[in-house]
Amino acid sequence: MALKALDIFKLLPKTNCKKCDCPTCLAFAMKLAQKQASLDDCPDVTDEARAALEGSAAPPIRLVAIGDGPNKLEIGNETVMFRHEESFYHPPGIGILVPDNLDGEALAAKIDTVGKLQFLRVGTEMRADMVGVENVSGEAAPFSKTVEAAQSLELPLVLMAKEAGPIAAALASGLAKKPLIHAATPENWEAFAKLAKEHNCPLAVLAPDLDKLGELTEKIKNAGVEDMVLDLSAGNVSETLQALTAVRKLALKNVKKLGYPCMATCKDDDPGANVATCSMYAAKYAGIVLTTLDRGEHLLPILTVRHNIYTDPRKPIQVEPKLYEVGAVTPESPVLITTNFSLTYYSVEGEVEASRVPAYIGVLDTEGTSVLTAFASDKLTSDDIAAFLNSDALKGKVSHRKVIIPGYVAVMSGALEEDSGWEVLVGPREASGIPKYLKTVWKSG
Ligand code: SF4
Repeated sequence: MALKALDIFKLLPKTNCKKCDCPTCLAFAMKLAQKQASLDDCPDVTDEARAALEGSAAPPIRLVAIGDGPNKLEIGNETVMFRHEESFYHPPGIGILVPDNLDGEALAAKIDTVGKLQFLRVGTEMRADMVGVENVSGEAAPFSKTVEAAQSLELPLVLMAKEAGPIAAALASGLAKKPLIHAATPENWEAFAKLAKEHNCPLAVLAPDLDKLGELTEKIKNAGVEDMVLDLSAGNVSETLQALTAVRKLALKNVKKLGYPCMATCKDDDPGANVATCSMYAAKYAGIVLTTLDRGEHLLPILTVRHNIYTDPRKPIQVEPKLYEVGAVTPESPVLITTNFSLTYYSVEGEVEASRVPAYIGVLDTEGTSVLTAFASDKLTSDDIAAFLNSDALKGKVSHRKVIIPGYVAVMSGALEEDSGWEVLVGPREASGIPKYLKTVWKSG
């Protein structure tokens, strides 16, 4: 576990010299504990203290990279058990399993399907981010052919085989770029570790229980492989979840032999159960989730869960406060007002787009809060909106002086008209009412 501020303070010079730009050594210790400062900022720290502090600063869960290039996946390096304690940092890779027994046409169709699993949600692009190629044939040639097809997606790969031979053949032909090799077991680990070391690839490790898993990671580490991923899917869903939770706890207690990111696989034939299981694995605490699902309606909920959990709870998701243009706006286009909470903005933007009525959306800085929250906390006032309407942002953009405010803040209409000199129209309360409003009320106005 990372050192707490008081433990760090005990190792500092305690002279309060302020050379680190902090008023006291204790303040600096607090910043270091929150990873908001570097030890290098204190010029007087002793070598002994530096060694102790740098050791404690090493992440309890190793950061492991899979693949290379812009789609490289980095997992691990998490520091807390619960998101609200700080944040989770490296979202799990969600991977689609592709068996190597598909014929040419079926394989091409499968790869095409996986490539299309991309979505846009609250301004963020989400997609299946890796492919697990399974050696169900037990042979090298079909495995290499499937790896080659999967590689065309330029996503990180997991090469999965019971024996090292098929993976060695695929790696020897240079088909995959730094894939995760899956999986070393107590029976085969030497061949898999040799392969991982030779090709500088991360290695998945699979064992029937955590004791054996810990023994295995130590042996593999001694064989020269540092980057490992613990596959905890040996049992049923409940056992896998327990194992994922136990490994996270032990890793955060600095049990080094389990200090690696984890992975889990779900092959449930029932799509609903599969979605629920994968979502649970993504929430607690898998670094990779592999699934047999490959339909957009199944993947989207899993990616949404991941997206929600891996946002920083200390920072509301915000868009830049400014004037946005949706569609081919003209001087006659309507002007709508909303807040800079991402979910609010993208809901409004989506509905304006759906209405096919080109419009301006004026986004005010409400510190990432929604309309009602901003209004209740005085972060969205008639003064703020009036200032925005009469600012340079709108100068020369529209030939009218009409503004549409969210229905939830209708009560500020009078004050806003007085403050701004603009005619105030009260829009719908919910974004879903915007298309009808723009097509009827605005167009007839
Ligand atoms: Fe303390 Fe070092 Fe900061 Fe000086 S520079 S106040 S000794 S932490």
